[in-house]
Amino acid sequence: MLRFPLRRYLAGMRRESLGLLEIALPSVCLLCRQMPSRPGTFCAACLLGMPPVASPRCPRCDLPFTAMDGSDHLCQACTLLPPPFLWARSAGLYQDSLRRAVQRFKFQGEFNLDRPLAHLMRGMLQQSLEEFKADLLVPIPLFRRRLCQRGFNQSLLLARALRLEGLPIATRLLRRVRETAPQSGLKAFQRRRNLRGAFALEKSLRGERVLLLDDVMTTGATARECSRVLLSGGAGAVAVAVLARASLHA
Ligand SMILES: [Zn+2]
Ligand SMILES: [Zn+2]
Repeated sequence: MLRFPLRRYLAGMRRESLGLLEIALPSVCLLCRQMPSRPGTFCAACLLGMPPVASPRCPRCDLPFTAMDGSDHLCQACTLLPPPFLWARSAGLYQDSLRRAVQRFKFQGEFNLDRPLAHLMRGMLQQSLEEFKADLLVPIPLFRRRLCQRGFNQSLLLARALRLEGLPIATRLLRRVRETAPQSGLKAFQRRRNLRGAFALEKSLRGERVLLLDDVMTTGATARECSRVLLSGGAGAVAVAVLARASLHA
């Protein structure tokens, strides 16, 4: 007779002590969910796995070179076919922890990763942005069907989390008017061809300086095509901010 109430009493104790433990314990990293970190941030170990693109890199498209030393210089793609944007800057390399975080943010709907990821971007962009003096922030749009499937546009979430003061976010200016085949597995020139005619401007611009925002840059084909559309629609200049920089060989 006594066993039931006693068990229930002990179970209650366990629940209560667990609750107390949760309050007493420091919060854990949003990515590994193990190491302590300030609420809503990544732990030091995960941050180490999010290295920035270091020199030598291409100053136009942020592509890292495999050489460990040497100065920044244009990559082959930017030399052969200069991109329409002035520069692209990423928060880090699309590998290790950053790749994991981007994938969880993008494909598993872990929206609470937006702020720590935006924080990484802000740190990397600060100097370039001060020099660029953007008038508009334009997140790269998704095609309607993709947006319906996913339920959100990751670039728009990042744009909002960036909280760049005084920089309006243009959510409807650039539209994706044609669905395109997935870019993965395509070579750079195939990616460019695949995207032709995929974007359109809702209205023309009058010389505004646009900061384009995307989550991952691989060949830069999407950023190139969006920049081309923006410039031919009257933008004064375009620069690109991305969360993670991948290379085709990464
Ligand atoms: Zn961690
Ligand atoms: Zn380049």
